[in-house]
Amino acid sequence: MSLEPAILRALIAAAGEQIVASAAELTVLDQAIGDGDHGANMKRGFEAVLGRLDSIVMQPTGEAIKSLGKTLVMTVGGASGPLYGSFFMAIGDTISRGRRLPDDLAEVFASGVDAVSARGRSKAGEKTMLDVLVPVLESLRADAGRPDLAQRVRAVANESVERTAPMLATKGRAAFLGARSIGHIDPGARSSCILVHAVCNTLEALS
Ligand code: ADP
Ligand code: MG
Repeated sequence: MSLEPAILRALIAAAGEQIVASAAELTVLDQAIGDGDHGANMKRGFEAVLGRLDSIVMQPTGEAIKSLGKTLVMTVGGASGPLYGSFFMAIGDTISRGRRLPDDLAEVFASGVDAVSARGRSKAGEKTMLDVLVPVLESLRADAGRPDLAQRVRAVANESVERTAPMLATKGRAAFLGARSIGHIDPGARSSCILVHAVCNTLEALS
């Protein structure tokens, strides 16, 4: 099923604008335990998405989200490009195959999380974006139908970002630091949290 084009536009625009506005913060996080490019990578990718917004939202929802994912794969670079690309392409594909929103939201989100896990050969607990995406999925499942779902999901995302700080990185560039990765928030976990907030805030404002 398809979302109203205006809702789809608002969701993608909010995600893009929040990532662009947060680029400096993501850079600082990636300077601590990576190579400092996560902010620039994500900004480049979402600026490309915003530049194509008109043609993206003209498509049915599933195809539109697949296009968003493909744009990220082509433009983000780094480890996060193919990972976020896989996330959105899988979500788009699941919607195109007939899942309904908002009823099947957890199932749709799960397909994106599974795609990241498969592409990254990673799971929660390794200090990556999955340490936000997996708890958010758990909240979508546990709190489905609650009137305060957006509020709960945002709180889970915030707590999950903070929980990456004491973790030892075992995947991605930060894993090369070994124990020196401990004490720093994972940049990809933070960008996932920013995306989750953008979606929750937009849906709340529209409801
Ligand atoms: P790079 O590490 O190539 O410089 P970015 O800086 O853009 O790429 O992205 C880094 C983020 O990507 C990390 O903070 C982490 O959240 C995520 N990441 C890296 N490797 C993996 C993986 N195997 N699985 C899940 N997420 C990963
Ligand atoms: Mg990096």
